[in-house]
Amino acid sequence: MTTLIDTNQKMPVRHPEKQNRPDSEILRKPAWIRVKAPVGKGYAATRKIVHDKGLVTVCEEAACPNMGECWDKKHATLMIMGDTCTRACAFCNIRTGLPGPLDVDEPKNVAKAVFEMGLNHVVITSVDRDDLEDGGAAHFAKTIAAIRERTPSTTIEILTPDFLRKDGAAETVIDAKPDVFNHNLETVPSLYHSIRPGARYFHSLRLLQKVKERESTQFTKSGIMVGLGETKAEVMQVMDDMRSADIDFITIGQYLQPTRKHAPIARFWEPAEFKALEVIARSKGFLMVSSSPLTRSSHHAGDDFARLRAARLAKFGANPA
Ligand code: SF4
Repeated sequence: MTTLIDTNQKMPVRHPEKQNRPDSEILRKPAWIRVKAPVGKGYAATRKIVHDKGLVTVCEEAACPNMGECWDKKHATLMIMGDTCTRACAFCNIRTGLPGPLDVDEPKNVAKAVFEMGLNHVVITSVDRDDLEDGGAAHFAKTIAAIRERTPSTTIEILTPDFLRKDGAAETVIDAKPDVFNHNLETVPSLYHSIRPGARYFHSLRLLQKVKERESTQFTKSGIMVGLGETKAEVMQVMDDMRSADIDFITIGQYLQPTRKHAPIARFWEPAEFKALEVIARSKGFLMVSSSPLTRSSHHAGDDFARLRAARLAKFGANPA
C-alpha cells in the first residue's frame, strides 16, 4: 500500500496574529531554569486520563515547564471553553483565533473527571472568550456548581480572564463561590501595551478588588512574570497596588519565551532576586507569596491552598470578614 502525503497541506497556524512579527532570538536558559524530562509513572497516568477524556489543560497548551513535576503528582490545570483564545498576548502560547461554540456538557464532564481523578483541590482556567456576551462567566459558574455537586469536598480554584466590557460577568462568577479567585495581572502597567494589549491594568486590579468587596471570605490571588523588561521598582508598585485591592496571594515567576515570534526575554532574574522579592512581598502583608524562577500560578496549588487557609487562621482567627 502506498500512502500519499500532501506536502502542500500546511498545519493550521497557532498564532496567526504573530506571523508577521520579526523573529527574536531565544536565550539559552540558565541552570536554575532547566527542568527534568517527564518520566514518572504518575505523569503517564495523568497524561492518559487527560487524553482519554479529551480534556484540555493549560499545562500542555501553554507548554508549562513544570508539567513533569505536576503531572507526576496528578495535578493538572483544566482549561474550559476550548483551546482557542480571542486575545493575542505577546507572552502566551495558547492558540489564538475564533473559538467554536461552548460545549454544554463540559461542566458535567469536568466534574466527572475531577471525581475520577480523586482531586482534593482543582484549578480551572479558561481561554478568553470575548466573543461571548458574558465572556463565559455563566459557563464558569456552571462548572463550579457541577464540581460542588459531584465532589462537595473538593476545593475549587479558578483562574479567570478579565471579563473586560462584560457587565455583570465577574459577579456571576464570584456568586458561584469558588474557594480561590485568581486572575493574573501578568506584568507591570508600563508593559501592558506591548505584552497584554487587549487588557487594562486597572480593570484587572478592580476585578480582584470586587471579589473581596462582594465575598470577603473568598481568597484572591494574582501573579506576574518578570524578565519582560520591568524594573524592580515597578514590581514593588504592583505589589502595593495588589495590596490596596486586598489580594491575599501573589505569585512571581520568570517569563519564558515560547517561540521566536513571542516577546523576547529581557533578562533572567536570579534566584536570589526572587528571594528578595518574596521578602518584600511578605513585608507588604500578603498572606501567601510564591516567588521563584519556576513559580506559575497553579504550581503546588493544592498545598498552597492549605497554607493559605492556615495563614488566614493565624492572622485573623476563624472569622476574617
Ligand atoms: S504549574 Fe500549573 S500549568 Fe504548569 S504544569 Fe503545573 S498545573 Fe500545569
